Amino acid sequence: MPRFKKNWRLVDKFNCFEDLKKVLEEKKVHKRSSKKQKYGEKVEYECKQKRQFKCPFEMFTYVGDGEGEMYELYEYEAHNCETAEYKRSLKRAAREMIDMAMEVRRGVGDISPLAQQLAFAREGPGLVAAPTPKQMYNAVAYKKRKLEGPPIRTIGALFEEISSRFPEGSAASPPDSVIRARLDCDPDNPNAFYTFLTTQRLLQNLGKPGGDVLQVDGTYKLMYEENTVLTLGVSDRHRRLHPVGITIIGQTESTTAYVKLFECLKEALRQSGLPEYRPSAVMSDGDPSITRAVSKVFSTALCLTCFFHMKKQVKVQMMNKGVPKERRSKILKEISLLQLSPTVPVFLLAAKKLLKQWRTEGMTRFSHYFRRIWI
Ligand SMILES: [Zn+2]
Repeated sequence: MPRFKKNWRLVDKFNCFEDLKKVLEEKKVHKRSSKKQKYGEKVEYECKQKRQFKCPFEMFTYVGDGEGEMYELYEYEAHNCETAEYKRSLKRAAREMIDMAMEVRRGVGDISPLAQQLAFAREGPGLVAAPTPKQMYNAVAYKKRKLEGPPIRTIGALFEEISSRFPEGSAASPPDSVIRARLDCDPDNPNAFYTFLTTQRLLQNLGKPGGDVLQVDGTYKLMYEENTVLTLGVSDRHRRLHPVGITIIGQTESTTAYVKLFECLKEALRQSGLPEYRPSAVMSDGDPSITRAVSKVFSTALCLTCFFHMKKQVKVQMMNKGVPKERRSKILKEISLLQLSPTVPVFLLAAKKLLKQWRTEGMTRFSHYFRRIWI
């Protein structure tokens, strides 16, 4: 047997790996790593809640390829995660009560009165801070998801949920309640789904300094059942992004989707009795479908590409257009300086100089590309 630095304890020996697995489940560990070693493959396990509580409990075993093998399972330290307090959100006692109440009242949508009763009953002085309704709501939603899976499973259910929860806006809508400017759905065609959601307060971000540059993006991180989310935002003087609204569409970003998005924004403003919006520019990742939609709906707006996305594309093109490796980082710096130009004429003058310099250095193809796409 190998010698251990840590004080490992033998838990048990197993004839079959399935039995060992049951113990791993009971001991609330998951696999951390496996390493090939002299004695076979060493498989290490750690507490499932190690990250949350820095729980030190670990286990390991050796898995060889010999037949009729015995598995020895070792453990180290003990769980502290069963008593450690949560740093964020609800405290342990409140969580336990919610769990309990949820098990009792499975399948019911809202926070049960029982859960609230339990939470308040257990709340001795200094024992648990009373959870806010929002914390309760989140904890219940989380628990429900764990028990029953996602609450919405079909496009039809999503349609029902949105139409029952989010009304169309009006001048009388409370500033922070979510309103919709559109809701299209065809159960036979998931790609036809379309909705635009915002609040009065978010719409008011458009009237603030910096609100004349509309920022658009599509994100796949919020994808749910293949739906895509498009976001609208504006930045303030401190370069902080403020959301304006989101839209949930079918699977594909297209010019039509973006045209609808901009029209929904106009519609939402009309419903809420807010002034008409004419952006001076629309900033995006440079996707042609966005550019086309902008020219259709906001014909006077400039199309800007977010500097981050531009840099990404320029990097690819430097490779394609034969820019020498050692010259590439300097070009990015030059472009960074260029975008600091205070006015459009200064920008154009500086750009012209830069393009000329690149050409004289023999990077004609890149220079042409840059002028065509970015100037
Ligand atoms: Zn643990």
